[in-house]
Amino acid sequence: MNGKMYPVPFPRLLEWIKGEYRHQRSIFGINSVNFYKTPGSHEFKLGDQSCWRPLGPAAGPHTQMAQNIVAAYLTGARYFELKTVQQLDNLEIAKPCIAADKEGYNTEWSTELSVPEAFDEYLKAWLAIAYIRHSIIKEWSGETHRYIFNMSIGYDLAGIQSSKIDHFIENMRLAEKTPQFKKYCKHLIEVEKFTWSTSSDISSSITLSTMHGCPPGEIEAIATYLLADKRLHTYVKLNPTLLGYDFVRSTLDRTGFRHIQLNPASFERDLQFVQAIPILKRLQSLAIKNNLTFGVKLSNTLAVINNQGKLPGEEMYLSGSALYPLTINLAFRLAQVFDSNLPISYSGGADFFNIGKILSTGIAPITVATNLLKPGGYLRLGQLAEEVDKHSGAWESGKVNLEILAQLAEQAIPPNRQNIYIEPKPVPKAARRLPLFDCFIAPCQERCPIHQDVANYLRFVNKSDFDNALESILMQNPLPNITGYICDHQCMSACTRNYYDNPLAIRDMKRVAAENGHIQSQKVTKKKSTAKRVAILGAGPAGLATAFFLQKAGFSVTVFDRNPQAGGTVRFIIPGFRLPLSAIERDVRFIASQGVGFIFGQPSNLTIEELRQNGFDYIVLAIGAGISPSLPIQSENSNIIEAVEFLKRYNQKANFNLGRTVAIIGGGNSAMDAARAARRIPGVAEVSILYRRTIAQMPADQEEVENALADGVVFRELITPVEFSKDGILKCQRMRLGEPDASGRPRPVPVNDFEDLCVDTLITAIGEQVDQKYLRKIGLNPNKRGRLDVNPETNESTLPNVFIGGDAFRGPATVVEAITDARKIATAILKKEKLPVATLPSSRFNLDSTTEQSIVQKKGKVCSTTGVFNAPEQIKAEAGRCLECDLLCMRCVDVCPNRANIAVRVEDDNFRNAYQIVHLDALCNECGNCATFCLYENGQPYRNKFTIFSDVTSFTDSQNDGYVRTGNIFLIRTASQTWQFDPEKDTDPKDYSLENRQVINLLQILRTEYPYL
Ligand code: SF4
Ligand code: SF4
Ligand code: SF4
Repeated sequence: MNGKMYPVPFPRLLEWIKGEYRHQRSIFGINSVNFYKTPGSHEFKLGDQSCWRPLGPAAGPHTQMAQNIVAAYLTGARYFELKTVQQLDNLEIAKPCIAADKEGYNTEWSTELSVPEAFDEYLKAWLAIAYIRHSIIKEWSGETHRYIFNMSIGYDLAGIQSSKIDHFIENMRLAEKTPQFKKYCKHLIEVEKFTWSTSSDISSSITLSTMHGCPPGEIEAIATYLLADKRLHTYVKLNPTLLGYDFVRSTLDRTGFRHIQLNPASFERDLQFVQAIPILKRLQSLAIKNNLTFGVKLSNTLAVINNQGKLPGEEMYLSGSALYPLTINLAFRLAQVFDSNLPISYSGGADFFNIGKILSTGIAPITVATNLLKPGGYLRLGQLAEEVDKHSGAWESGKVNLEILAQLAEQAIPPNRQNIYIEPKPVPKAARRLPLFDCFIAPCQERCPIHQDVANYLRFVNKSDFDNALESILMQNPLPNITGYICDHQCMSACTRNYYDNPLAIRDMKRVAAENGHIQSQKVTKKKSTAKRVAILGAGPAGLATAFFLQKAGFSVTVFDRNPQAGGTVRFIIPGFRLPLSAIERDVRFIASQGVGFIFGQPSNLTIEELRQNGFDYIVLAIGAGISPSLPIQSENSNIIEAVEFLKRYNQKANFNLGRTVAIIGGGNSAMDAARAARRIPGVAEVSILYRRTIAQMPADQEEVENALADGVVFRELITPVEFSKDGILKCQRMRLGEPDASGRPRPVPVNDFEDLCVDTLITAIGEQVDQKYLRKIGLNPNKRGRLDVNPETNESTLPNVFIGGDAFRGPATVVEAITDARKIATAILKKEKLPVATLPSSRFNLDSTTEQSIVQKKGKVCSTTGVFNAPEQIKAEAGRCLECDLLCMRCVDVCPNRANIAVRVEDDNFRNAYQIVHLDALCNECGNCATFCLYENGQPYRNKFTIFSDVTSFTDSQNDGYVRTGNIFLIRTASQTWQFDPEKDTDPKDYSLENRQVINLLQILRTEYPYL
């Protein structure tokens, strides 16, 4: 492990291609179901070379090694912008150098290989593709599968004129005189019996890459040299800084990238638009004179301040989605000046959603990099290729359609919205150590506080088998209807589809299953296994869920509530426009059908002693948090109402006269509910939410903030009311953010600045508390914040066999948190009674080949949700978007540009997953991309996965678990211990620990099924 990759020698490269295709029907991890075999239908010409689909990887991590280029060809690429070479070819690149989880960033630039090694890689790729086309996938042998290699060089004239770079250019232009070409062709003919003649004209075109800050005169001098002296078809790569700081800043702000920090100085030191135009015009004239193509490559990455702490250094280079609005606008401005006659090679946030539109302007070729670094990896090229093929021929006129381009440029920047900015949060990961083997998990299940088996019930929903889907949900969640509407769906924040389009509509799918599934009570309820009785105080979500789990386990459960019906907060406080009564009633009916007893209208003063005397062995306090703290402001105005009271009356359809203007104090979900309810009261014209911190720190779910925004609620951040006068003047003090407080959020600090607002009614939503008087009465001692001292493992209070859960324990919390407490309490009681506790199955997951192929195909496809789930086919399609991460994760395999992680099929009961991830040390440059996307917090597949080393020195220098082969002996390291294995002698793995048994089994599979590795 030294961050250095080692090229694969040409004969071995061919052995690998052949062997993998024969044994696994894949090549460099690209399953043959993802080979893109459709021929192109319109030729794209670049000088004397041509391809039939001007799409492929941009100069970057996907065009550095031969195997990368081959992988891109297999998935549909036919135009390759090779990784930049430069004279200084022994620079150390600090690692990791790529972070592409949201928009893309990198700190790498030219190839990490020496210039001669880079040439060798490009030559091997050139010949390997020819070999695949003619000897392996013969459908590809026709003209319509031809491909273009485009060189990329940098960064200064002296370097480009050096003999090292000059040799590179000349060898790429005509490789036949090089010894490597002769040697590889001999091998192809003599060993592989390859009979096709292969062109040695690898490339006659070039993209000039210049440093950020390169002087205009230098850019022109290099391009002049390339055109006039080297007679190469030339694209000059330009920076987005040409658009000027103000335009770039405001575009990033308006397109959701306010968190990106720019350095104004980098705009001043780069080429300016007015300088660029005459240079480009002179170069264009020169190209015409020399009968060459000249154009621009749009665009380079954008240098930004490194404020994310993921990559080394102070500056990093922005790419991906944030670049699209900038690059397309730059394309439009240049096309306008050149009256459509400037060829544009495009790269800058091209993806499935926009590639067809970009092509329809006539722009081509299009290259991508960031897109291929995300889950799906190279497989994403297939869908992009389909889009390109739909617009085949758009490039034939050689001109750009200004009208279409103008529309695209305009549409890329939405109009200014209300000045609200919610910074995108990172996709959360599993807070566990990445295991050596069996790492596949469904991130949605991991993230769900009650670990619902989402992938499993989505599979049933996909088959319209709602009964089994509901049964699967009920294993962990007894309130599927309620949570089907108002769960805060943390699962969706972790969904793999966040990296593609939008997360699975998991909550909606649960609602669909709950509404359509039928479960017979006896399928869920077990026989009576204990005579013990449980009293639950409170029929809200926590009480209902605890009742279900314990009744199901055989206890006799009675729920007491002071209200006339069950549901608690969700029935009486949450407005009907968020949660219909019918959903609550369905869940309550189901729980009652399990045999749970309910006693309603019970005064809320039952003591523990009374309950014990009445024969209850266990008591669960699920009494909610219904007491509002007093408002810390001076007020002579009586038009103040607490949110809980307001919402309760709103749900009872009470008549209100709130006046025209309503202000809500608070930033939680109750504040959002109150604001949205107030917007619906006749006569109310304006509703504002006043919050003492910023919107980013609001405890309300982001979705509820967005719903309130959509309902027209006005948000005022960093402001707190201090006085409410009789005549309706609400005096507010401004705040600023200070140091973090105990919650980790920046503390709001008052500043000496006030604002008067005219308000008719003030609604306070500043967090409800549990009834502390009652807790004291029954012998418990809440602290100042109303919290009790409980056993964190069981939620048992200081009174034996008295438990507490839900809002009563946590303060205002979510329904799924209430269910979490319910599960914890039920488990604790079962353990006390020595009854079996339900656990999730840990048996081996079966993965049949049909399911596998369907998942593998989906992994390369962007497929947005429709958001509408009325018709059966809409529901089926949504559930079918699931990538079934529990059965086949492989993110690290897909996102590795260097193909340094492989998935090995294991047919062995020692493993749970059908595939195991194995890392190939020699191919890895420690770019860090697989770690970015691994499902585990701090998971680094390139360090934590079982590794194959190609020599003893690499094995010794590394700490990875793995092996190196020396003759017939395998030198193995597991858990920091090194040991040897001789497959001829040490045949019985029974004596080994489970992990070492797994290692031995894996080795045997690698020897027999993956002999080419
Ligand atoms: S794709 Fe499916 S299994 Fe994966 S996280 Fe999303 S819902 Fe869960
Ligand atoms: S294995 Fe990981 S760190 Fe290594 S090259 Fe691949 S993505 Fe980069
Ligand atoms: S990314 Fe790779 S190592 Fe991480 S969980 Fe997925 S398959 Fe395992």
